[in-house]
Amino acid sequence: MIKIVTILQGHVNEILGINKELMRERTKACLKCDYSLKKGVYTGVCQKDKGGCGCRVKAKASLTEQVCPKGVWEGNTINYDKL
Ligand code: SF4
Repeated sequence: MIKIVTILQGHVNEILGINKELMRERTKACLKCDYSLKKGVYTGVCQKDKGGCGCRVKAKASLTEQVCPKGVWEGNTINYDKL
């Protein structure tokens, strides 16, 4: 489980555009994922009931140390074959 401080940091990053390019690349993959609740171009939530982490994807993806629960992204690597 992610700590509240980490969740807040992710949302601050999202609002301020910190790690924007990393977030963009990661969420591009999330848009193709069946765990993601999609709303237009917004990737929404990684749905827990489907096996995801329950996080808001943009906020989580802005945190360099966080990883996708499905192994799709980690660091700067995107594994499209795991989608
Ligand atoms: S499982 Fe990974 S790729 Fe899929 S929505 Fe969640 S964070 Fe994104």
